[in-house]
Amino acid sequence: MGLEEYKGVFIYAQQVDNEISPIAFELIGKGKELAKDLNTEVTAVLLGSNVKGLADQLAVYGADKVIVVDNPLLETYRTEPYAQALTAVINEYKPEIMLVGATAIGRDLGPTVSARVQTGLTADCTMLEIGDFPLVAVPGKEDQQKHNQLLMTRPAFGGNTIATIACPDNRPQMATVRPGVMQKIAPIEGAKANVVEFNPELKENNKYVEIEEVVKAVGNVENIMDAKILVSGGRGVGSAENFGMLKELADVLGGMVSCSRAAVENGWLAQDYQVGQTGKTVRPNVYFAIGISGAIQHVAGMEESDIIIAINKDADAPIFDVADYGIVGDLNKIVPALTAQLKAE
Ligand code: FAD
Repeated sequence: MGLEEYKGVFIYAQQVDNEISPIAFELIGKGKELAKDLNTEVTAVLLGSNVKGLADQLAVYGADKVIVVDNPLLETYRTEPYAQALTAVINEYKPEIMLVGATAIGRDLGPTVSARVQTGLTADCTMLEIGDFPLVAVPGKEDQQKHNQLLMTRPAFGGNTIATIACPDNRPQMATVRPGVMQKIAPIEGAKANVVEFNPELKENNKYVEIEEVVKAVGNVENIMDAKILVSGGRGVGSAENFGMLKELADVLGGMVSCSRAAVENGWLAQDYQVGQTGKTVRPNVYFAIGISGAIQHVAGMEESDIIIAINKDADAPIFDVADYGIVGDLNKIVPALTAQLKAE
């Protein structure tokens, strides 16, 4: 079968406990841009048990079509039945592109399925576009340059380089995409899904993994990815107690506290609050970087913020290269003064 028979941009619409994960809407947003370049449409793939009722939400965020696989075996995420279902969808509908969120679930599901359909997968992408591959035609081999390829870009070697990868000889072109990086579209209120129900035969297979018990995380449910204002602290903050100072500033502004990896490694905040390549990607309206040097791995997670305000005692700290506003000085003096001023207003 020729590669040209594969058509359409498909996204995996992750749901957990019958709630669509935000990454699904972000993937549709990016999928629409890619589909426009390829003159095709975006199809969301919704797998689960009793999930058909969620399809309209995907249409509201731009899905042209929703393929629903509804099966009791898909009640809770498990690699085997979900991989069987998504593999069956790909074999039946032959998408040109298949995008999956780089969530805990997607990082398990995506590679399993790509191996089963014998194609490649680029993991943890931060940029996707349609273009030529190789990017620059090789002299004498111009005829070998392929057009309309999915160019998948991701940080590599600890964020020290950015790699653009393509999959010119297999279909679908598969990628997992970091949550929080792509933008969802403005909702189309009242949109109704064009639903296609698909019922492949799924087999119970506990050969490799058997779920004995599901224990739900308790406690902290606030998510720094939802915050409009983030007051982020790094090693320069000095201690867990000093983060109280940042919390006070965040409270006055109606924001949340987040941090660099150094703060997590020192045990000052939990990993849930870490921004960066191995933490979360955030895009708040205002991002305060306080006592953070601006290492590339940190900046990768926050550079898309609308306004970045850096406070650092070192005028040469790289964070000032990405900051819109910078204050050079001791955070122990500046942060309380800023909070007091805001309280007074
Ligand atoms: P430092 O680099 O030590 O900077 C502290 C800053 O505080 C300095 O600029 C200093 O001038 C300033 N300062 C000190 N005292 C004061 C004061 N009193 N007033 C004002 N300023 C002061 N890092 C992340 O953050 N997120 C990630 O996801 C991440 N992933 C990584 C993945 C890999 C594979 C690797 C190799 C590294 C990763 N890192 C990540 C680590 C990253 O390289 C840096 O080590 C880390 O970001 C440094 O944190 P920091 O800026 O808080 O600390």
